[in-house]
Amino acid sequence: MLSVGIDIGGTKILGALVDESGKVIQEKRIASPAQDPARLVDDVAGLIDDLLRVEPEVAGIGVAAAGFIDAERSTVLYAPNLNWRNEPLQQRISGRVGREVVIENDANAAGWAEFRFGAASKYGSMMMLTLGTGVGGAVVADGKLMRGGFGIGGELGHVTVVDGGIKCGCGRLGCVEQYSSGTALLRELRSIASSSSAEGARLRELAGEGELSGHHAYLAFQEGDKATRQEVERAAEYLARAMGSLVAVLDPEVFVIGGGLSELGQGILDPITRHFAAQLPAQGFRPEADIVLASFANEAGVIGAADLARQAGQ
Ligand SMILES: [Zn+2]
Repeated sequence: MLSVGIDIGGTKILGALVDESGKVIQEKRIASPAQDPARLVDDVAGLIDDLLRVEPEVAGIGVAAAGFIDAERSTVLYAPNLNWRNEPLQQRISGRVGREVVIENDANAAGWAEFRFGAASKYGSMMMLTLGTGVGGAVVADGKLMRGGFGIGGELGHVTVVDGGIKCGCGRLGCVEQYSSGTALLRELRSIASSSSAEGARLRELAGEGELSGHHAYLAFQEGDKATRQEVERAAEYLARAMGSLVAVLDPEVFVIGGGLSELGQGILDPITRHFAAQLPAQGFRPEADIVLASFANEAGVIGAADLARQAGQ
């Protein structure tokens, strides 16, 4: 039996019918009215209705959203990019669709997809780090998705890596998100490009009259631009610092690296692996976690949400 997965992002909402092996059978994408919570619920419900018209009998409906979700998996406590504060999302969507709906944090859903069907499917314990707009996290310990006492655990992007460092959106200083996300990398590269220094020459050239984009940064990296390579190296080093601390807490067998920065492939995996070895507690006297790239790109959230809903229904 298929199940429905929905992934609510800041710019788009992705919906899919997913089979038991994690394969997306049908997919639908709509724009996200991110700043209008009431319309967002309507649009999500409409998307679910559309998918249920294709397949009326489903094993479950799972909705992933970027935000803190309470331990009962019913209320979005806080979603900075979606304008939700204490939004009873589960009840609202269920009410509109007339069926049970499971909600989950988007990074958790993506991590679950990797654990069940993707890069971490051979392992029992994993941590996923998604290097995108922020640094998202998911933890699977002993085969179970770890949500924490209040439902909002696994926020790995907010591990401190620099004392008194850059101010983070969460209110603290020096979170790894401020050093190893795609946003942080681009911030550094833009600052180099606008500094009129010699090392920023190629970045300035690529940006032209406009602002340096993620795509420009990708091109500069592939060309071997020295400044870009150095900044990626730094982002990897900070991430490895966080990973060293995380290993001390949960001892995962594998780290899965996802998000926009993972598109650099070995280019990001190699420096992370190198710096991780230097950050590992008791190095040489313990098994070392594998570090791998995520298998799913944009579909991880819908695949994970659909599977979590299927499991909740069993
Ligand atoms: Zn933070």
